[in-house]
Amino acid sequence: MRNTFLDNSRSKNAALKKTILRICIENGEQSIGALSEKLDSSVPTVTKLISELIDDGFMVDLGKQGSAGGRRPSVYGLNPDAGYFVGVDIRNTHAGFAVTDFKGNLVSFQDDIPFTMEKNEASVREIAASIRRFFADNQMDWERVLGLGISLAGRVNRLTGYSNNYSFDPDRSIASILEEELEVPVILENDSRAMTYGEFICGTINKEQNVLFVNVSWGLGMGMVLDGRLFYGASGYSGEFGHFPLLDNDVMCRCGKIGCLETGASGSAVVRLVTEQLKAGRSSLLKDKYKKEGKVNLNDIFKAIKQEDVLSIEVVEKVGETLGRALAGLINIFNPELVIIGGKLAMAGDYLLLPIRSTVKKYAQNLVNRDTTIKFSTLKRQAAPVGDCMLSRSHLLGVL
Ligand SMILES: [Zn+2]
Repeated sequence: MRNTFLDNSRSKNAALKKTILRICIENGEQSIGALSEKLDSSVPTVTKLISELIDDGFMVDLGKQGSAGGRRPSVYGLNPDAGYFVGVDIRNTHAGFAVTDFKGNLVSFQDDIPFTMEKNEASVREIAASIRRFFADNQMDWERVLGLGISLAGRVNRLTGYSNNYSFDPDRSIASILEEELEVPVILENDSRAMTYGEFICGTINKEQNVLFVNVSWGLGMGMVLDGRLFYGASGYSGEFGHFPLLDNDVMCRCGKIGCLETGASGSAVVRLVTEQLKAGRSSLLKDKYKKEGKVNLNDIFKAIKQEDVLSIEVVEKVGETLGRALAGLINIFNPELVIIGGKLAMAGDYLLLPIRSTVKKYAQNLVNRDTTIKFSTLKRQAAPVGDCMLSRSHLLGVL
């Protein structure tokens, strides 16, 4: 496997160099004086490290900057051209690919690439081939890739590379097979956590240190930033919000249990509730389609909402209320500054957000909820693959 990332003959300073890069990511461009203070290292040592980082292409000299008056020192920053990070988000029937430069700027993005992941090695090798093809089609050089992050739905342990849904061999992780095929370091992550990290580094999260990201797609997942760090839990399985046993509806969840929150607050819940009403003979713009095909899907429902279909709007509002009630509980527990609503159901816009807000206001403790803002994701479909890129960078820099 390619192992170029700061791992050369001068690797005894690798840890300090990674710290310099991390400081630049977190605080922007730096002078040698400021870095020497932050690292508690001498000016000559920092000067030497910076010069090596420039030689190796990771940093650039940005010249003298800052306000006029007094001596203005030269400042140094990340070199965006140091290399690429690749993010791959695997969904039910499609995948999303993103490529960022070393600074985290989006270089390329493609959504809705048809792909269904299966629980076998051929499927993992197929995704590797598809990533190589994507690079070739976009005239990008694979040799410049520094690392890759891949996100999957369900329980994922980043440290062991285990995926509850897709791992097929206890001795070989999905990440290790991809590393074999792609010859770059690979990390595996849960999709909602990848989205959270994307928002944390490049998106909606600004200075907030305590954030809940709710991923309402076909299922319901959650990522958490607590005290400024992504929260994993003991085995990396935290955030199973969708399987919160909260409802009394006797609906079987895909996890095999009954009464999970996801059965009342997710894309699949919207489809089930709309279908139940159509079956019962309710009037709707979807009535003819249901009569003809015996079913409707989430995209049909979004289309009907755009045409102001009352049944579809009512169901989304009901789902928003169910979600809001559960969120009120989480807000009481975590006291977050920000709650981000992302995932496919966010396409329903205010029909989803307003009932969430009003139900949270109704059920959360006022004093706790007072400083919480609820917003939609700004990265939308890019959140997970961009998060995967940034997770790969942070992993290589030893941040995670
Ligand atoms: Zn469940």
